[in-house]
Order: sequence, then structure tokens, then C-alpha cells
Amino acid sequence: MSQTIEKGEQYVMHTYGRFPVVLDHGDGVYLYDENGKKYLDMYAGIAVNALGYNHPKLTEALQEQVGKMLHVSNYYYTKELVGAAQLLVENSIFDKVFFCNSGAEANEAALKLAKKYGKSKSENKTQVIAMKKSFHGRTHGALALTMQEKYQKSFQPLVPNIQAAEYNNIESVKALINENTCAVILEVIQGEGGIIPAEKAFLQEVEALCKANDALLMIDEVQTGIGRTGTLFAFEQYGIHPDVVSMAKGLGGGVPIGAMACTKEVDILVPGDHASTFGGNPLVTAAAQVVLKELTENGLLDHVQEVGAYLKEQLLALKEEFECVVDVRGIGLMQGVELTIPALDVEKKCIANGMLLVGAGEKVIRFVPPLIITKEHVDEAMSILRKALV
Ligand SMILES: *Cc1c(COP(=O)(O)O)cnc(C)c1O
Repeated sequence: MSQTIEKGEQYVMHTYGRFPVVLDHGDGVYLYDENGKKYLDMYAGIAVNALGYNHPKLTEALQEQVGKMLHVSNYYYTKELVGAAQLLVENSIFDKVFFCNSGAEANEAALKLAKKYGKSKSENKTQVIAMKKSFHGRTHGALALTMQEKYQKSFQPLVPNIQAAEYNNIESVKALINENTCAVILEVIQGEGGIIPAEKAFLQEVEALCKANDALLMIDEVQTGIGRTGTLFAFEQYGIHPDVVSMAKGLGGGVPIGAMACTKEVDILVPGDHASTFGGNPLVTAAAQVVLKELTENGLLDHVQEVGAYLKEQLLALKEEFECVVDVRGIGLMQGVELTIPALDVEKKCIANGMLLVGAGEKVIRFVPPLIITKEHVDEAMSILRKALV
């Protein structure tokens, strides 16, 4: 066994079941392990590495920033912080941005905003509705919104006043929502829950229920956002106008950054309400500007639409070919393939044959590759996947 793996077993806390591979470096959409073995990357560090590895513009911007300054706290402005916020605002329906360091933190910020909004209307307006099979992160607040027993059961009691509705079932939302609801939070495509897209009518009706009850509509775009589905945010394809959005994963192209954005009507947080020491520091916001410009100015969104459609077409062809493939779901470059066989077995075979994938539940394999992937890479992925399915 590799010495790195041996030492890893000894020193690193076992909060993950890791594959026995030591990754060393990447280039484009390929990763290389310590023995020089090459892998086609179809999971991008869980939907994070939007521009792949060693992208010339991202590398240059980061190198330049490293030589200038890494961090100054939020007591001062930097051009990088302001530039990233401006790009997000000018390319969305939102007016203000708060930066943090992860998806869970972005949802914590959203949850606090919702509580304050509710309390500004009435003392009892503190109920939040989340969806069964959701995933919003591992901190206490975000975990309380994550309605999956396997994640919650060892950590009860969590944050109170959070109720679970059924995803894509408007009656179950109707049954819970009332004047004491301050927010509804949901994903446009449930990611960890198994790549389950929302139905358009469901999201539109949830929006109407939120309006009728003066509750905030908060969309968790931590995985679906920043171009993953072919639009900057996935909700844009549903004709809805959320009050709050959270994002993270792809935003920094690999550096740790999260953000919450909201409209001016609900921009109610003031100094002292919420904060983050590292949040939006010049290193991570320099990276976010590169990613956002690639998407909004340099045609990457169109590219995602084109290659995403091609990926879906190829996966649907596999469904015809293999009995073990029962469903293909997703939008753009976020696609799930539901199998009758364990996803982990398929992932292991793919790793052996030089491709990295990630599961989403026990029977679903997930394709969330770097957004720069080409049709030729998709063809290569399909030929490796075919070997794992027979
Ligand atoms: C990954 C994810 C999170 C959590 O993000 P972290 O950066 O791991 O805290 C939250 N919501 C969704 C939808 C996610 O996919």
C-alpha cells in the first residue's frame, strides 16, 4: 500500500470513506495519481472544479493575487471582493451578496436572514419549511434543514422550528405553510438526494404560496448554481424569482468560497447580525471573478448547454442498451443515472479503468464534470462506463 494512504489511515479522521488513490496533479479535465495513472474527471471534486485543473486564466489570477495579498478581513474593501459581488448582482435578479466559505455557511446565513425577516413581522413567524431528501450541509442549522435520517439521527436535537414537506408535492407544502412560516428552502435539483429535478409547476406554486404567506423563497444553488445547468442559476429555467439564493461549490473553481445573495426587499442584515473572518477574501474572490467572467462573458454557459445536452443523449442511449440502467435525470452538466446495481461497484470499476465518478445515494451515479468538458471527453467517459456496466 502507498505510504500516503497508510499515514492517512493513521492521522486523518475517518469522516469519509476514501478510495485508495493518492491524487497528485491535474490538467484540463484529467487528474493524475502518485503513480502517474491518468483519470478522466467526471465529478470535479463534487461539482467544484468548474474550469478543470490548471486553467490558464484561473492559475494566472491566483498567482498574481498570491503575490499581492491573501487576506485582509472584512473591515476593509478590496477590488476583488467588490468585483465578485458586482458580477453576481449584474448577472442575476439579486441586489446584495454576503460571502462566506462553504455551502453550509451560505445556508446558515440564509437561515439567519429568514429568522430575522420573520421576527421583524411577528414574534412567532419563525417556522421554516424544508424538503424531504434535501441536502443543505453538515453544520447544525444546515443539518436541521437536511431532511435525511441517516445524516440527522446521531445529532438530535438540532435547530428547532423546521418542518419537512414532500418534494414535488404541492399539497404537502400547502398543509404546512401559514402566517408563521418565515421561509421555504429547497434545491432546484436535489443533489445528494439522488439527482431529482423539481417539477416546474411545483416550484411556481411554492413561489405563489410563499408570496401569499409572506414567507421567503430560498433556493439552495450550492450544487446547481454557477453555470452547472447551463444558466448561471438553475432556477432561471423555472420562471421563478426567489428572495434568497445560496451558492458555493463551483463559485471559486476550486478555492473555498460560499455566498448568499438576496433582493433589496429582504436586505435586512446590519453590522453585528452575521459575519465571517475569511468570507470573500481577495484570494477567493479573485478566483470567483475568473469563473463568473468565463460563464457570463466568454460563452461557457452556451458550452454547458451544448455539451450537457450531448451527455444526456449519450446516457439515455445507455438506458436502451443496459438493463441495469433504469433512469437518467438532470439538467445540463448535472446528470444522474439510476441503476439496479450498487453505484459504488460501478465507481470502483470506473476508477480501475481511469475515470472518476461520484455517487448520489446507493443506486445513482452522478456526472458533474468540469464545465469545460468537450463532446470527445463525453465519448471517452461513455466507453469507460460501458465496461463497468457489462
Ligand atoms: C454540497 C452541498 C451543500 C454543502 O456544501 P459544503 O460546502 O459542503 O458545506 C449544501 N447544499 C447543497 C445543495 C450541496 O450540494
